Amino acid sequence: MKKFSLPEECSCKSTLGCTNCRVLLQLDTEANEKTKTITTSELISEDEFVKPVSQDIPIIVLAPGQKLKFEAYARLGFGRDHAKWQPATIAVVKYGENENEIFLTVESNGALTAEEIIIAAIEQLNKSIKDFGETINALQIPNNL
Ligand SMILES: [Zn+2]
Repeated sequence: MKKFSLPEECSCKSTLGCTNCRVLLQLDTEANEKTKTITTSELISEDEFVKPVSQDIPIIVLAPGQKLKFEAYARLGFGRDHAKWQPATIAVVKYGENENEIFLTVESNGALTAEEIIIAAIEQLNKSIKDFGETINALQIPNNL
């Protein structure tokens, strides 16, 4: 996960991104004599670790003689900005019968493991706390108080 930067935090500052903040996926296919369902299995990624969650997701059905060719970019983002970046389908906290028992259930949609989701959430929370602390430290207190 540390391999890539968020586009807004990447040093390239490019709208198209660079190899640090996006991964190119390409598809180039056609239906010859029969109708053909094109699936995610035909996507070719420039990074072996960035690939569709499933190889069986239908993209389009092509009629005989039709072709499809495109390039797509995969980028990091936050679930608060768009549902496509939500890695968890369920996240529930339950308190146990003893005072010190807390159960966290995280169900992944397959993009990240539950452990990766929790680690990423903790890292983001730490960053938010650090940013908040820096904001508080930068506050100017008026002399007349
Ligand atoms: Zn970049």
